Amino acid sequence: MNSNEIEKKYQIEDGEHKGEVIVSWIITHACQEKCAYCISPEKKKEITSEEEHFAIQNQLISTGLTKNRYIGGEPLIVPHIFKLIKDASEKGINTRISTNGILLTKEKLLEVKDYLNSIAFPFESYNDILNKNIRGTKNHREIIESKIKMVKDIGNIGVLVNTCVHKENINELEELGYYLNILCIDHWKLRKFNSSSGRGAVPNKKRFDITDEEFNKIVSFLQNKYPTLKIDGRKPSKLATRLMISPQGNLYRMIGSEEENINYGNILKKKLNIKQIYDRDHCN
Ligand code: SF4
Repeated sequence: MNSNEIEKKYQIEDGEHKGEVIVSWIITHACQEKCAYCISPEKKKEITSEEEHFAIQNQLISTGLTKNRYIGGEPLIVPHIFKLIKDASEKGINTRISTNGILLTKEKLLEVKDYLNSIAFPFESYNDILNKNIRGTKNHREIIESKIKMVKDIGNIGVLVNTCVHKENINELEELGYYLNILCIDHWKLRKFNSSSGRGAVPNKKRFDITDEEFNKIVSFLQNKYPTLKIDGRKPSKLATRLMISPQGNLYRMIGSEEENINYGNILKKKLNIKQIYDRDHCN
């Protein structure tokens, strides 16, 4: 392992993110799946050009960004996503992509591996029928398991798993934890189902809602059961402090329903200074 790789190795973040300026960039709402818990809004006209995406990224970096999370929708649908990641990484930005894994191939991974600090995959259970019922697509377990192994084999990229915890998978998580332990992932983030906004989540509130108590109980149980897995439990309120960029280039924080969001305006039109906003509004 050379010194560059050591430097890039994924570090478990402390919750405070001291000294960092982090943005979750929803670069597209497009996605091949139809997860019933999806918190992405209905699709509308979005920025698609490489030029405008680079203009957004340049504005972020020149005003203090330190960590860029490329999320979606499915960010691998954006044809120039790797150019953006490479550019950000070469400018010293810590990069992560959140992907459903469908479009991730070994060739693509080799192309981007030196510029990615971590990859996050969604994974809700080991039960294929349940996954199909929730996501609307087949083979999710197989895809994610094989992509985790592929990333691990290729080397020095952190692997995170995001699990939306809800009524239908809460009793499947012990089994999922067993396999994630074997797969040696770096970080398991359990997120309580959030019904306040999203094309899947809002109509499925009754289907998926669990209480805070149920959520806290399963997180503690899993932390005790799998002490070598780094496990975090996140409630929807955690999202309220995260700066997000919409596929239209608008900077906002997700407080509850779309109407309740805190909107700062369009990053390009208003030439927003990301660090000033981050520090002033105590984001993390
Ligand atoms: S939650 Fe599912 S449908 Fe929504 S963006 Fe992610 S993979 Fe696509």
